[in-house]
Amino acid sequence: MEIFYSELCLIGGAVEDNVDRLIAYGAENIELMLDGTGWNDFPRRMEELVSALRARKVGYSVHVPVWDINLTCGNAHVRDAVLETYRQSIVLASKLDAKHVVLHTGWCSDPHFSKDEGRARAREAMLALHDFNAGYGQNLLVENVGTNATSLFTEDQFVEFLNDFPEDFGYLVDVGHAFINGWNLDTLFARLGKRLRALHIHNNDGIKDRHAPLAEGNMDWNAILDAAMSPGGKLNLVLEYNIGTELERLREGKAFLEARCGAKR
Ligand SMILES: [Zn+2]
Repeated sequence: MEIFYSELCLIGGAVEDNVDRLIAYGAENIELMLDGTGWNDFPRRMEELVSALRARKVGYSVHVPVWDINLTCGNAHVRDAVLETYRQSIVLASKLDAKHVVLHTGWCSDPHFSKDEGRARAREAMLALHDFNAGYGQNLLVENVGTNATSLFTEDQFVEFLNDFPEDFGYLVDVGHAFINGWNLDTLFARLGKRLRALHIHNNDGIKDRHAPLAEGNMDWNAILDAAMSPGGKLNLVLEYNIGTELERLREGKAFLEARCGAKR
């Protein structure tokens, strides 16, 4: 088990400053969130960013850009652009020896659009990324995103999505998203088995995706963490708190997870 702080809470700031601020609050691993001004046009600044980030002695994971971005949108030009930014995220991750890369599947932006078509596009894109990743060897993880209205996947469809994918493809469960959508958090993790490699951890009231600190919401963390740890694989735990959250909440969350889940395993 390793604990990460997501850069989401500092979106818009300069990347190097964000990382330094998270380190000042105890970060040992940081999930870079490639959105906002700091990450604009990041492929052109790749070498400069990599050298600044490697100089900081922390581990990294990489979250693909997601704001204004939909991998399975109904326009082919947009889909191609999204796929390219995902490829560049994998390149960056490999230069940072990232511990995982989080991929969003896209979502259904209007009820008139077909979720079947969206899932088919997601599948095609993920397989293309798997091929691209052959040269980079990154730990690619698919995240559950969206509300019941916008998510391309029901719980069963998400569990089955990677069934015939190569074994190295894995899942990240965003526990807050799963809670809002009423997924069964007692059984979900075991159903994902060996492919479950990471969690996004944040709290909410079961209605709004607040990305709140651990202690602020209706989720039963003792039960959730027991269920998530029981399959026995190594899990990366990412505290993904909302923009503007006080950074002290990250330090508290990390202390809770360390006490609850034990030392690194
Ligand atoms: Zn998430």
